[in-house]
Formats: sequence, structure tokens, C-alpha cells
Amino acid sequence: MLTLHELEAWSFPGTALAVLGHPITHSLSPLMHNSALANLALTEPAYGDWRYFRFDVPPADLPQALATLYVRGFRGINLTVPHKILALNEVTLIDPAALPVGAINTLRHTQEGWMGFNTDGYGLATAVQESLGLKIRDRPVVLLGAGGAARGAAVECLQRHCASLWIANRTAETLAALLADLRPIAHGIPLHGFAPGHVPADLPADALVINATSSGMRADDAPPANLSDLPRPAGVFDMIYNPPLTPLLQAARNLHLPQANGLAMLVHQGAKALEIWSGVAAARTAPMMAAALQSTN
Ligand code: NAP
Repeated sequence: MLTLHELEAWSFPGTALAVLGHPITHSLSPLMHNSALANLALTEPAYGDWRYFRFDVPPADLPQALATLYVRGFRGINLTVPHKILALNEVTLIDPAALPVGAINTLRHTQEGWMGFNTDGYGLATAVQESLGLKIRDRPVVLLGAGGAARGAAVECLQRHCASLWIANRTAETLAALLADLRPIAHGIPLHGFAPGHVPADLPADALVINATSSGMRADDAPPANLSDLPRPAGVFDMIYNPPLTPLLQAARNLHLPQANGLAMLVHQGAKALEIWSGVAAARTAPMMAAALQSTN
């Protein structure tokens, strides 16, 4: 792990990629990406000099860090907490699909400057399909949370034409702000907000429930919603992957509902980022990344 100060005197002769965050010590991205790159290099030697690094960059240093990494010729950057929104001010170009999300997690080096993308939505939709066998299209979605991850999930669900979107959040003001931002892109898809303890009477059964709150990261967290209060859902996806079985997923298991944690989302957002940098299809590198994570268990 390197800091911005160390970066000033640092060089690497190959093709460099990196994740920036603060803190960054526990990021699994270097393991995932370097394993996939080493695997690719077995058949395509050009990837033999590609490496993925991690940098601890406090928010105030982000502009300088991105400028330095650009000049150093880094091919791509991943951004994690707390940089996903801040980085919008530092890019020259932005993928139109990322605009309504208002956050980016992937940067690609272009001649004009950094271009920003958001692969979290792709990661979510692909993980839901893979681990629960559910497509978002034409399905009602109950989304728990209204923070950054929920924002990305909501845009993805609308862009993939979910049947209806029901968002629950503890803080009413944050929920109202998210709903106001989503209405212009809902294009006729029914969009509702509710307080977690007050489930609307017309909420449909067979919904996909997505936890995008940070409640569940600690073993003693209460579940962000009481699943027994909802008409029987089709499945429950928790974006949290550490711990692997959150209180919400435990409740889903008790009710014999299909359930999955966020590890596959981490894999698929990473594989999509590597596709943006290398052109190698995400579907090809995702199994390599998943295997690398499993090897740590
Ligand atoms: P964030 O912007 O800080 O938003 C946090 C959300 O959680 C807010 O809606 C907040 O509600 C809610 N919340 C926090 N504590 C709560 C509690 N005790 N009870 C009920 N609601 C609570 O965070 P974020 O960036 O959106 O991340 C949310 C989660 O998604 C994190 O656990 C993160 O690790 C996970 N994530 C996973 C992946 C992946 O690849 N698997 C990718 C992105 C994010 P209020 O508005 O009421 O404060």
C-alpha cells in the first residue's frame, strides 16, 4: 500500500492500475485483479506486466493523486469510499450511463483526461442474476437504503425496466431527495418511498429485496427491514459481504427465501472495470476473480 507522498517518488515500468480509498487496507480488489491478470498472462503474455496497486488517499488529496497518476500513465483507477462522488469533479469525460447515478467507481486513461464510469450497477444486476437466478426486468424491487450504493442500485433497476421500485430509508429527508432525483428517469415505472416500519398495503409479492444500507456490517445490527412484514419476496440480496451472513440474510434463511450476499457484486463490478481498461470480456475474468476470493476463505 502506498500514500500520495510515496507516489511522488514511485515508478513502475509496466501497465499500472490502482484502487484509491481511505481507508484502503482491507480492499480485496488488488487480490482479485492481480489474480485475473496473472491468469490472463498464461495465454496472453502482454498481460504479464500489468499490475494493480492500492493507494491510501484522503479526500483532500484526491485531485492531486488523480493528476499525478494520470501523468504517470496509469491506465485505470478504481475508486472506493469516500471518493466515488468527489471524483466527478476530476474527470474530463463521463460515461452517459453514470450521469444519473452521480457517482463513479472506475476511471479510464484517455488522451483528453480521465473518463469516469460506474460499474456497481452492472455488478449488482449480474450478481442478482447469477446468485438468485432473478432478472430485474419486469420484477418489483424493494430497495433498502438511500445512500450512494442505493442510488446506483435504483438507477440500474430503472434502466433495466423493473416493474416497480419501492425504496425504504430510515431518514425521510434522504429518501425524499433520492426520489426527487429518480422521478425524471423513471419514465412511467411506479416509484414509491416508505419508512421501514410502515410497509405500503399495495406492495406486491415476488419482489426482489436489495439491502443497500450499511446496517448488517456488525453482527449486532438490527436487520434494516422486517422481512415478515413484506408480502413473500422472490429473493433477498444483501450488498454487504463481510460478514457473509448478515442479520437480514439470516432472517431470509429462516423464512426459506433465496438469499445471497454482496461478494458476487464485488467480483462483477471488478470484472467490468477490467473490461473497460483491457477490452477483455467481464464474463471471462469474473470466474478468475471469484476463485481468487474463494482461495482466501
Ligand atoms: P452510505 O452512502 O453511507 O449510505 C448508508 C445507507 O445505510 C443510508 O441509507 C443509511 O440511512 C443506511 N443506514 C446506515 N445505518 C443504518 C441503520 N443502523 N439502520 C438502517 N439504515 C441504516 O453507504 P453506501 O456507500 O451507500 O454503502 C452501503 C452499503 O453497501 C455498505 O455496507 C457497503 O459496503 C455496501 N456496498 C457493497 C458493494 C459491493 O460491491 N458488494 C458496493 C457498494 C456498496 P440514513 O439515510 O437513514 O442514514
